[in-house]
Amino acid sequence: MHGRGSAWPQALTGYNQRVTDQPQPEPQVQRPSRLEPREVAELKQLRIDQPELSSAVDMQLALIDMQRRVQSRVPLPWMQTDADWLRTQLAAGRPVVRFVDIPLDWTDFRLILRQTADILQRHDALDPADHDKILALTREGHALEPVVAQWYAATSGVDGPDSRVGTPADAPRDLDQVLVLALRPFLSRCAEVLTSRMDLSQWNRGRCPFCGWEPDLAVITPSAERRLICGRCAAQWPYPPLTCPFCANDDRARITSFATRDGRYRVYACDVCRRYLKAYDGRHAPRPVMMSVDLVATLPLDAAAMQRGYVG
Ligand SMILES: [Zn+2]
Ligand SMILES: [Zn+2]
Repeated sequence: MHGRGSAWPQALTGYNQRVTDQPQPEPQVQRPSRLEPREVAELKQLRIDQPELSSAVDMQLALIDMQRRVQSRVPLPWMQTDADWLRTQLAAGRPVVRFVDIPLDWTDFRLILRQTADILQRHDALDPADHDKILALTREGHALEPVVAQWYAATSGVDGPDSRVGTPADAPRDLDQVLVLALRPFLSRCAEVLTSRMDLSQWNRGRCPFCGWEPDLAVITPSAERRLICGRCAAQWPYPPLTCPFCANDDRARITSFATRDGRYRVYACDVCRRYLKAYDGRHAPRPVMMSVDLVATLPLDAAAMQRGYVG
């Protein structure tokens, strides 16, 4: 099983797939306020439609609020990466964002790391002992910087696959999931800058071409292509619809796919490595994919996939 922790309240994985043949209450419609971001309005509506997800919705709303506040202060990075180097990295299957490229402000980063740990713990998604260790890490002078730098080098593979050695052995067990969330506002700026400079059609890997992390979600485009969405920097890249991004299995007979009754979401599960990836089916959808909303809305699908013996 993959070592990456899930940032969702543990009780949620026990939910069954939504039963839709029961009498349904009249739909309530949440009226979005004018300044409210669309994803916030969608999450509030989701809480009304599926009250069993309210704990996960509340956690996501708190994370969004914090990330938006920090992100508004993060400048677009000045990236001196030249076109030849980008091409060479992509051709070698290596992502392109180096740790030094990330516009990290350590004061802001400590703040977001602490607040992320607090939010996760408040929603039972982080072990209290790990919460304390992470807080201690943010207080210890310069202890944090080498841990984050080493973790990024180890998990990005920018310097090649040999650099993927994982987090330090004495690090808190759930440090990964907290770092992933805390780094996103900074890292996503790099992908914003680099996207227009890169030809992603040459990238045929299951990992993110920017930061090397795994996809957390996918979107099926109106032309039936699949784009994977990075679980760390939220960048997208094209990938064949019926190939497993985790083990590259492309035998269609060994990919199991199932959808929600409304057809909005789909799961692609691999019968070779037993992992699965959820997708938002944008072919007939009323809105674009929104990772923060769709990851919560599909928690019942996670339960369904796990019941069938797959792992996320
Ligand atoms: Zn990424
Ligand atoms: Zn696989």
